[in-house]
Amino acid sequence: MRTIGLIGGMSWESTAVYYRRLNEQVRTRLGGLHSAEILMRSVDFDAIVNLQKQGRWDDACKILANIARELEEGGAGCLLICTNTMHKLAEGVQQAVSIPLLHIADVTAHAIRADGCKRPLLLATRYTMEQDFYVQRLRDQFALDPIVPNEADRIAVHDIIFDELCQGVVHDRSRQLYLDVIARGKLDGADSVILGCTEICLLVGPQHVDLPVFDSTMLHADAAVDFSMTKQAPHPRAAQSVHP
Ligand code: GLU
Repeated sequence: MRTIGLIGGMSWESTAVYYRRLNEQVRTRLGGLHSAEILMRSVDFDAIVNLQKQGRWDDACKILANIARELEEGGAGCLLICTNTMHKLAEGVQQAVSIPLLHIADVTAHAIRADGCKRPLLLATRYTMEQDFYVQRLRDQFALDPIVPNEADRIAVHDIIFDELCQGVVHDRSRQLYLDVIARGKLDGADSVILGCTEICLLVGPQHVDLPVFDSTMLHADAAVDFSMTKQAPHPRAAQSVHP
């Protein structure tokens, strides 16, 4: 089993989900007392959020790239950035190391395509929904046709992520708001939903939604377990090309 390197803490509420999922998956596959080989570095999220708000993405990239190097030196065989948003920096982080970065958008897109869906509604932070790094990747590399909520809904979805979910707060009224956004997305032609923020699974799951749901957190963690148990190393510099 190869060691899974986690860049976590963004927020720790979802990193905890990753930790549990990775271990559960290894136990499911190997049984008994088996658990995942993990090396994790968890940041103080407040500092990262301040950089996001100021648009200081280069500074954030330096921080994540340094952590990636530390994880590689510590023996990690692959890297996961445990947030969709910070995949804006995936290329810069990948360039800092020679182990592959498993890209969260790619593993999610593969699952969507495998299910035959084409037009997913993307629920995520405003950075992820409004900037190109994620949506354009789904279009260009996977021929998907993602849609995002209208502006008022994007603001509400984003605020619930930072003001509630990242702080461990889960409200029924926020779940209803998300379900209303999903209903509007369905009317606009969405055939599926991407939980494109790693905390959304704390609020909404497939049991709440009458469309196929693709949870980036679970898919990302499962891809890491696949990697960890695959003998053949995938192609290096894999931010552009690693597939689960
Ligand atoms: N965990 C969230 C995501 O998946 C948001 C936190 C962040 O801004 O990194 O995008």
